[in-house]
Amino acid sequence: MVQLDISFKERYSLFISGEQVPPSTDDYLPTYDPATGNSFAEIAIADSRDVDQAVTTARTAFESWRDVSPEKRGRIVHRIGRRIRDSADELAAIECKDQGKPMSQARSDIRGAWRYFEYYSGVADKLEGRSVPVGSDQVDYTFREPYGVSAQVTPWNFPGNLFARGVAPALVAGNTVVVKPAPQTTLSTLKLAELCSEAGLPDGAVNVVTGTGESAGQPLVSHPDIDTITFTGSVATGQSIMQHAADTVTPVTLELGGKNPAVVFPDAPLDQTAESIATAIFTNAGQVCSAADRLLVHEDIHDRLVDRIVSIVDEYEIGPGNADPDMGPLASAEHRDRVLEYIAVGKEAGAKPITGGNVPDRPGYFVEPTIFTDVQNEMRIAQEEIFGPVLSVISFRDEKAALSIANDTKYGLTAGIFTNDITRAHRLARYLEAGNVYVNKWFGDTTQTPFGGYKSSGIGREKGLEALDSYLQTKNVAIDISADGSGTLPGA
Ligand code: NAP
Ligand code: MG
Repeated sequence: MVQLDISFKERYSLFISGEQVPPSTDDYLPTYDPATGNSFAEIAIADSRDVDQAVTTARTAFESWRDVSPEKRGRIVHRIGRRIRDSADELAAIECKDQGKPMSQARSDIRGAWRYFEYYSGVADKLEGRSVPVGSDQVDYTFREPYGVSAQVTPWNFPGNLFARGVAPALVAGNTVVVKPAPQTTLSTLKLAELCSEAGLPDGAVNVVTGTGESAGQPLVSHPDIDTITFTGSVATGQSIMQHAADTVTPVTLELGGKNPAVVFPDAPLDQTAESIATAIFTNAGQVCSAADRLLVHEDIHDRLVDRIVSIVDEYEIGPGNADPDMGPLASAEHRDRVLEYIAVGKEAGAKPITGGNVPDRPGYFVEPTIFTDVQNEMRIAQEEIFGPVLSVISFRDEKAALSIANDTKYGLTAGIFTNDITRAHRLARYLEAGNVYVNKWFGDTTQTPFGGYKSSGIGREKGLEALDSYLQTKNVAIDISADGSGTLPGA
C-alpha cells in the first residue's frame, strides 16, 4: 500500500466564506496522534462571534446558491466529488494520523466521502414537485425547496465521511452549510471544505467552525438564523440539541448510535460468520455507531463460534494506522479511559473476559480487542454504548428468546441475522426493532441505502434518497382558475 507522507501546519484556522479566518478568541487546542499520544498541530477555538459570522455568511450565500440552476448545482457537487477522489490519498493520510484508524479503513471512508458527492450530484435536477388534482377550479402544485442554512455537528469516529454524508445532500438540495467537527478530528473536515471551494462552490456555501461543543457547537445549534440541524453523536448531546431546537422550532436529524445485536443460529456457516462478527465489532476499534457490539448466539454453537472469533482476534496486529494493522488505537485518551471503565464494569458484574481487557504495552490510546462471555442483557456492558473494541456475548435458547433479547435495549440502529433459513431471516427482519437489518453480513448499508435509527438511536434518515427529506421542505401552491372566483372555507 502506498503511504503518503504529508506535512501538517502548526495551526489551523476556521474556514468562513472560502477563507481561512483566525478565531476571535485567539485560542487554539492541540490535536493528537492517537497512536503516540503526541500533539502535532493546533486547531482554532471558535466562539459565538465566529459562529455568528459563519451563519451570516451562509445565509448570504444561500440567497444565490438556491437559485443556481439545478444543472449547474449538480455539476459543482459532482466536481467536489472528483476533487475528493483526486485527493483521496492525502485525505486518508490525514484521517489516519488525526483519528488513528488503519490506513485501509481510512481509504474506505474517503471513498465513501467522494461517493456521496457523486451520488447526490445526479439528483440536483430531479427534485420534482407534484401536480395535485383538486378539481377544475384550481391548479395545484408542490415545490421542494431548501430549508436555508444547515447546521451540522459531526463526531470523531468517521469525520471526513460524515462531513460528506451531510454536506452533499444539503448542497444539492440548495442549502448552505456550517459544520462543527469534533475537536479530536478536525483536520479532514477543513481539507474537505477547501476542496469544495477549489471545485467551484461559491464562497460561504460551506463553512467550518472548529473548537469544542461548548465553544462552537452549542452557539451553532442554538443560533436563531439556522434552519435545520444534522447531528451525529451521543444520545445525551442529541437530546440537548433537540431541546435547544425547540426554542426556534428548528427541525433536527439525529444519528445517535446503537447497541446492535448480531443474532447467530446454528445453521449459519460458522467460519464465515466468525469473520463477519470480528469485522463488525473491531473495525475502527469498535468506534462505529453500527458496530455489532452484542453477539446473541444460540447455545448449541456458543462455544464453537466464540472460539473461532477469539482465534481470529488473537492473530490481530495492533498498531498505528499508517502501518495498516488490523486494529488501531482509540481516538482520544479520554475515550480510552471510558472504554477501560466499561471493561472494569463488565468484570465487576460477573461477565468473563475471555480475551483482551488490557492496555497493550506501548504509547498511544490502545486497548486490546476484548470479548466478554457470560453476559446478561441487563448488564451495563450489554445496554450502554461502549463505542470501543468490546464484544458482549449472550447465549440464547430459541428464536423467541433471541428476538426478545435483541429488542431489549433503548437503541435501534442496526441488527444482524446469521442463518441459512430464509423464512426465519425474513421473519426476524420484520420484528427486529432497528432501522437497518443485515442478513448473513454486516455493514450492509451503502451510499444509496437509507440509514438511521429506531427508538433512541435517532430521528430521520441519512444516505440514499431519503436523506434529502432532511434538506427539503414542501410548498404547496393553489391557483384559482375558475371563471367567477371560487373562495372556499378553511378545511374544506
Ligand atoms: P458527543 O458529546 O455527542 O459529541 C459529538 C459532537 O457534538 C462533538 O463535535 C461535540 O463536541 C459536539 N457537542 C457536544 N455537546 C454539544 C452541544 N451541547 N451542542 C452542540 N454540539 C455539541 O460525543 P462524544 O463525547 O465525543 O462521545 C461520547 C459517546 O458518544 C461515545 O462514547 C459514543 O457512545 C457516542 N458517539 C456516537 C457516535 C455515533 O456515530 N453515533 C459518534 C461519536 C460518539 P465536543 O466533543 O467538543 O463536546
Ligand atoms: Mg487527533
